[in-house]
Amino acid sequence: MNVYDSGRIADILENMGYIAAETIQDADLILFNTCHIREKAAEKLFSDLGRIEIIKNERAEKGLDTTIGVVGCVVQAEDEQISKRAPYVDFATGPLTYYRLPEILQKIARKKGECIIDTDFPAESKFDYLPQNKAKGGCSYLAIQEGCNNFCTYCIVPYTRGVETSRPIEDVINEAKRLVETGTLEINLLGQNVNSYHGEDSAGKERSLAYLLNKLAEIEGLQRLRYTTSYPADVTDELIDCHRNLKKLMPYLHLPLQSGSDKILKAMNRRHTSGQYLEVIEKLKEANPDIGLSSDFIVGFPGETDEDFQATMDMVKKVNYIQAFSFKYSRRAGTPAAIYPNQVDEKIKKERLEILQDQLFSQQLRFNKDCVGKIVPVLFESKGRKNGEIFGRSPYMQTVVVKGGDDNINQIRQVEIIKGGMNSLSGIIK
Ligand code: SAH
Ligand code: SF4
Repeated sequence: MNVYDSGRIADILENMGYIAAETIQDADLILFNTCHIREKAAEKLFSDLGRIEIIKNERAEKGLDTTIGVVGCVVQAEDEQISKRAPYVDFATGPLTYYRLPEILQKIARKKGECIIDTDFPAESKFDYLPQNKAKGGCSYLAIQEGCNNFCTYCIVPYTRGVETSRPIEDVINEAKRLVETGTLEINLLGQNVNSYHGEDSAGKERSLAYLLNKLAEIEGLQRLRYTTSYPADVTDELIDCHRNLKKLMPYLHLPLQSGSDKILKAMNRRHTSGQYLEVIEKLKEANPDIGLSSDFIVGFPGETDEDFQATMDMVKKVNYIQAFSFKYSRRAGTPAAIYPNQVDEKIKKERLEILQDQLFSQQLRFNKDCVGKIVPVLFESKGRKNGEIFGRSPYMQTVVVKGGDDNINQIRQVEIIKGGMNSLSGIIK
């Protein structure tokens, strides 16, 4: 979501005549787009701002003015901290209000020296004010929903991104068409709880994600569709049918489980049990036997015992995830779980995370090794780290590296996989 927002911010600035600076030292405007999901992500902002203050001072000695701005969820939650800890910041605006950047920058140009803070939850939708989204490559993100109503007890998102709202069907389809016209082959639909999407059509009727996917699949030239992130309790049979019927829908689904223990899921306020989750997975596998699953996990949620953690490990093995993200529980001020009495010791969290990641990584490696010898369609994204190499993504989101010319970038090519490592595959273009 932040990558999408950053792209849209770049579009706004481009429209105002800004061009991307080659180095930070050359930049007249420095913007941080921030994440508040875990403490570590938020702290990163303050250490980065410290480095930027030095650059701002060095530029000032040369008579150059530098505007520093912070955007995103940290602003929504810690606006006072920003002006206290980094008084040299010129403005800070939340994830729902960055469309007001032109106005904010004009104000700063008129009156330097005080920090403008905008943490409004506006009644209007930012999408109605953003410039047209143009493809920046073969894969594009497209936000179809903002906010979340789930209030998982550990999560800050409903407080920083506000209530869940869905963009109208027509707006999404028009944006998708524009992306395809400007070179996109793959669209990844975004929302915090994307499968509860319920955008209105032109007749004012609420439509589901499944309806939207069917409509988008009709767009000529669009070759791949994905959506993320889904909430297990909101996976409908209609959506499962999309995985059966829509060739363009990639056989990969990120469906966060968080914990395998029903006691912990309840304390997290997740609206599903591990058994219900398994039922959904079974239906998905029946609809498309080739589907690969990924998940998010939190270890050390308050009250998590060894048995609860073991239940998570059992689910990991049962579902046989091909990829997953896993985190130590991080207390977020203002969320219910932050003040639960039975917090888990940091050392135990660390141990559990290591055990979990060992298992997840070995499953991921096995899946990647099993790809050796297969011919896989890869959408190439950019140059690789080494000279003459390019990289792209398989239908399962695996990174695939090959030797090849730049003319393959933003194209789909058939690739024979010759090696499977933990984090990437290598192959040869056929
Ligand atoms: N809306 C998505 C993504 C939410 S944030 C979803 O519900 O799946 C991405 C992931 O961060 C979550 O799935 C969760 O695993 C993790 N996360 C959120 N809050 C956290 C916290 N306080 N501590 C640790 N991990 C957290
Ligand atoms: Fe956070 Fe839960 Fe909403 Fe995901 S579904 S954004 S974890 S509150």
